[in-house]
Parts: sequence; C-alpha cells; structure tokens
Amino acid sequence: MSIDFLALANAGVDKLHPYQPGKPVAELERELGISNSVKLASNENPLGLGAKAKAAIERALPELARYPDANGFALKAALANKLAVSSEQLILGNGSNELIDLVYHTFVSAGEEIVYSQYTFIVYALATQSHGATAIEVPAKDFGHDLDAMAAAITERTKLVCITNPNNPTGTFISKANLQAFLAKVPKQVLVILDEAYTEYVLPEERHPSIDWLSDYPNVIVSRTFSKAYGLAGLRVGYMVAHPELIGVLNRVREPFNCNSLALVAAEAALSDEAYLEEAVSLNRREMQRYQAFFEEQGLRYVPSQANFITLALERDAAPVYDALLREGVIVRPLAGYGLPTCLRISIGLEHENQRCMAALAKVLA
Ligand SMILES: *Cc1c(COP(=O)(O)O)cnc(C)c1O
Repeated sequence: MSIDFLALANAGVDKLHPYQPGKPVAELERELGISNSVKLASNENPLGLGAKAKAAIERALPELARYPDANGFALKAALANKLAVSSEQLILGNGSNELIDLVYHTFVSAGEEIVYSQYTFIVYALATQSHGATAIEVPAKDFGHDLDAMAAAITERTKLVCITNPNNPTGTFISKANLQAFLAKVPKQVLVILDEAYTEYVLPEERHPSIDWLSDYPNVIVSRTFSKAYGLAGLRVGYMVAHPELIGVLNRVREPFNCNSLALVAAEAALSDEAYLEEAVSLNRREMQRYQAFFEEQGLRYVPSQANFITLALERDAAPVYDALLREGVIVRPLAGYGLPTCLRISIGLEHENQRCMAALAKVLA
C-alpha cells in the first residue's frame, strides 16, 4: 500500500520543488568528457580558503568530538567589536539562509503577506511558500527593487519585507537615500530583512550604514554571511544584527548547536584577516571592469553590478548559450528559474578563469 506523503506534509509543501543545484563539477566533466573546467556559478570566493581561516580549522580539529559553543561567544564578541554593536544584537546561523528561515519560522504564519521583489534571492519565495504565507512579488524596475511599489504593496496583512542589497541574481544596488526613505515608510510592526550578503564588495563610500539605522528602525534585521567575500561558503556560517529583543525571540526558536565548531573558529579568523578581504575585493573590482569592457566591446547588454557576479542580458534564449559554454568547460548560472530566461549570471573568478569565460563567450556567441 502506498502512502501519499505529500498529503501528509504541511500546507504549501506540495507546491515546492527541491532546490536545483548545479551538478558537481567532477560529474559534469565526466559527462562532457572534459577536464579543468571553470565554475563561475555560485558566487563563491575564487581565492579559496584564506590562510588564517585554514590555520584556525586545523587547530580546532582535535576538539571535534565535543559539541560547539552553543552561543558562539568568541565569534559574536569579534563581530560585536567590529560592528560596534552588543553581542545581544547578534545571532549566528548555519549560513544566513538558515537565519532567513528562522525569521520565517519564528514570525510568519500561514496567510500573512510577505513583500519582496521580482528577480530576487530564491530563498524568499521558497520560505514564503513553505510557511503557507502569501507572496506579494513586486515587479522589478530595471532589474532591481522598485521601492515605491514595494512600499505601496504593504498592507495590514504584511508581516515581512525582504530587501536584497546588492541584489542577487542581478547585482543591482539601492542608494542610501532611497533605502532610508523606504525604511521610514514601513510601519513598525512590519519586519524588514535587509539581506547584505554582498555588502563587502560595495564601494565604502556607497555602502549603507545599515547597522547604525537599527536604533531608528527596530523592525529591521540586517543579514550577512561569511560565504562570499570571506570565502567560507562550504562551512555554512552567517549572522544577523537586530534589536536585542528581536534577537532574543529568534533565540527561543534557534537550534542550540546550529553553528558547527569549524565554522565558528574559521569565521572568527576570517574576520581578522583584512589582507584576504582586501585582496578578494580588489580582485573582484579589477575583474568586474574586465567583464564590463569585454561586454561593451562585444555589444552585449549587462546589468551593472555592485556584487561579485555580473548578469548578462542576451537578446535571445540563454539556454543554448549556457549549454555551449558548458561544452567549452565554463559553468555559469542560467536564470530561467528566476524568470530571466535570456540572462546568464557569471560569478567573478580569478583572472585566468575570467579570460577562459570571455574567450568561450566570444566563440559561442559568434
Ligand atoms: C549567497 C547569498 C546568501 C548567503 O547564503 P549563506 O546561507 O549565508 O551561504 C544570502 N543572501 C543572498 C542574496 C545570497 O546571494
């Protein structure tokens, strides 16, 4: 006798589909009969693990039979010091993705409305669906957030607004003044996640003092990660900064040991490795300019990006271009799943990887 497990699942689960990750590189290479492909698909740091983080991981190995520090005391102290906040304003997660889910789990009930932009991080749509909430997806403007329309979309049923800045997958950026004006319009009982996964790549003079804003806007939650500029995507560690009472509520629901020991020590070490961060950001800036110059020279349209990736907007279906690039050993991200079937997102790699990508693009598009 067969059991209909979907019928047993919570409302909304039947409409979800498992996240479609890219194939593992080794598997893809075997299928295509190629080797030394370049993976520019997941916005990871192309420099690899930093030396300080690596040393911290090695030092922590003998302690792995022990549970991690459930409060992440040392990492929170280091973050508090760096961000000039108190440890009570911080929560650590198994990637910021886990923390986004935790916000939903803690605050969002079935039927409540969640406002987010078209063409944004897929996790917001997934979490909205899996909590039985109602998605209010606001049409994008120039591939980015239309904040006026988002403000107008807030009703008395809205529980949460999600803003991704810089945005993934398009790289668009909301200016300081526009974002602050938006926050001032959001009613205080509506929570706002400001997802700043790529904030380290933004030019310092354009970066938002979003953490300073928390005292004026206690309904705002700033979300950041060690997965991108800090080079720790595989370890899964992210954090949120918010009002201490809001963090206290999240801590009631958080799993005690949600951050593993290696993630905790590696993130603390990565935070102190300013040379690594500087190299990552300057490499990104330099190589971003190389892509822009190449696209302009080729007459290709792209979305200007403040992140560590750039989105190419072709005049045609991008799927065959994606496939042809794969056969050249270049793995990028197709965006049909985001509703952008003519776009490809390219993560900025090392110089030689980007050169490979550009040569393959020129060949494939010729
Ligand atoms: C990559 C990314 C994250 C980070 O996710 P982690 O779970 O911390 O690895 C969060 N938000 C956006 C928009 C991202 O692109």
